[in-house]
Amino acid sequence: MIDNEIITELEGIVGEKFVSDQPEMQYLYHYDFITAEPEGKCDIVIMPNTAEEVQEIVKIGNKNKIPIVPWVSGINFGSLATPRKGGIVVDLRRLNRVLEVNEDDMYALVEGGITWADLQGYLEKNHPNLRAGVTWSPPGTGVVPSCLCYGMFDLGMIGGSGAEFLNGLEAVLGSGELVKIGSCALSKHWYGRQPLPDLAGLFIGWEGTTGIVTKAAIKLWPRLPFNETFTGMTLKVDDGIPVMLKLAKAGLGITDIVVVNLGWSQAVQFLNENKVPKDAMEAKQPDFIASIATQAYTAQQHEAQCEAIQEICKKDNIYLLPREGGIEVIQGPPNQVWGCWNFSRGGGGQWIGSYCSTRDIANYYNVARKICLKYNKPPQFYSRIMFGGHYCVARTNINFNKNDPNEIEMARNLLKEIHEEVQQIDGAIMYKSPKWAYETHKEKIFPATGELIEKIRKLLDPNGIMNPGQGRGEE
Ligand SMILES: Cc1cc2nc3c(=O)[nH]c(=O)nc-3n(C[C@H](O)[C@H](O)[C@H](O)COP(=O)(O)OP(=O)(O)OC[C@H]3O[C@@H](n4cnc5c(N)ncnc54)[C@H](O)[C@@H]3O)c2cc1C
Repeated sequence: MIDNEIITELEGIVGEKFVSDQPEMQYLYHYDFITAEPEGKCDIVIMPNTAEEVQEIVKIGNKNKIPIVPWVSGINFGSLATPRKGGIVVDLRRLNRVLEVNEDDMYALVEGGITWADLQGYLEKNHPNLRAGVTWSPPGTGVVPSCLCYGMFDLGMIGGSGAEFLNGLEAVLGSGELVKIGSCALSKHWYGRQPLPDLAGLFIGWEGTTGIVTKAAIKLWPRLPFNETFTGMTLKVDDGIPVMLKLAKAGLGITDIVVVNLGWSQAVQFLNENKVPKDAMEAKQPDFIASIATQAYTAQQHEAQCEAIQEICKKDNIYLLPREGGIEVIQGPPNQVWGCWNFSRGGGGQWIGSYCSTRDIANYYNVARKICLKYNKPPQFYSRIMFGGHYCVARTNINFNKNDPNEIEMARNLLKEIHEEVQQIDGAIMYKSPKWAYETHKEKIFPATGELIEKIRKLLDPNGIMNPGQGRGEE
């Protein structure tokens, strides 16, 4: 419980209208996918409008040892922004401005609560020659948490994971101090993290347990005039993956390579799931589907790149849908097409995913497929090849009826079983991990590294107020 004196202090910072202890206001912030029971519960939700206000709020939390949970949309699937220990949820969505777009160095300086819809809309209107890498998540999800949590964007082949899109940060530490990281620490230009010690890592992969990022510079890329997205298919995921890895290394202007299996299409709202076989391999239908996006500066360059993609695919038995009249797996993110929000199917959706070596994409799929079929669920697989083929991400989705406790229990068990089996794949490391998965990280991590992480967390957040009960932090 937070006493009235503190509530009055918080109201003094942001105004009465932006502080609430009412259950109907707090409902949204307690939401948990299915990671743990009971779901979280906060005492207060507050919506600051400036970095200084964030700082004042954190100082109050620090002085009174009240948990502080940074929050943008709370739908990161690992339920990482669900308040596990009560306290104050800091809803950052008023911090949704684009402060600057630097066309020379190609970055957007944004505030910590901006959503993909805000950023994309701003760029389309004001800088149509530049594009952000965008996730396939719903438009109202946060740009900054996506970067901090190693999100995957539709420019993953050229930009890497969301963490690599960050040029620099401004953040409020758990102690209440405000720091600047990257070139912005010495200059008004936020062009990069070079050449000082790279402290951005103090906030990347920490699930909000070290501080609140109030500003971030996000890399943008040129929007080139010639574009094509190919859809390729073959019978088996095992056969398709090596061809995608070949394409990734062929330097063909490829901006994104996403692989899904046929079952994955059941995750998308507009497809009738009854028309998709549960196990495409058994039904002898093409189980491997890839989306390969390429771009070029001139028409000639574009044709040459497209021809090379077509040749490689043909030689290795990947059938490409015709360029004219073909379908795109996903058109123009951010989008709202996900079956997990489809209430006629029960409205439940959850996933589990790992970063891993590109050697293990097919291994991951085979593990996940076997377990999904054991539970009589269609395997729904997705993999993105990142940063020119240097690494990849692999994950499995599952739909279920969230009004049926047995289905929820089954979905939980299924996902945990995949996680356990995937532990046998060396280097497959779960990201956006719920608390229970961190326990396996703790068991496996090189001991001195684990201790160093804990020491750093304590240094940045001496009173353990930042998002307690999440991430690596102790209970
Ligand atoms: C249907 C669906 C599809 C998706 N597809 C993709 C996809 O293709 N690629 C992808 O990358 N993601 C995908 N996601 C995940 C989605 O993008 C995440 O929700 C996003 O990564 C985090 O945004 P959020 O607003 O939900 O963050 P939140 O849940 O609000 O926060 C996530 C974590 O970051 C912390 N945090 C939030 N803001 C800050 C801040 N300013 N400073 C410090 N810590 C902060 C929180 O405390 C929490 O620990 C998908 C999600 C859904 C529901």
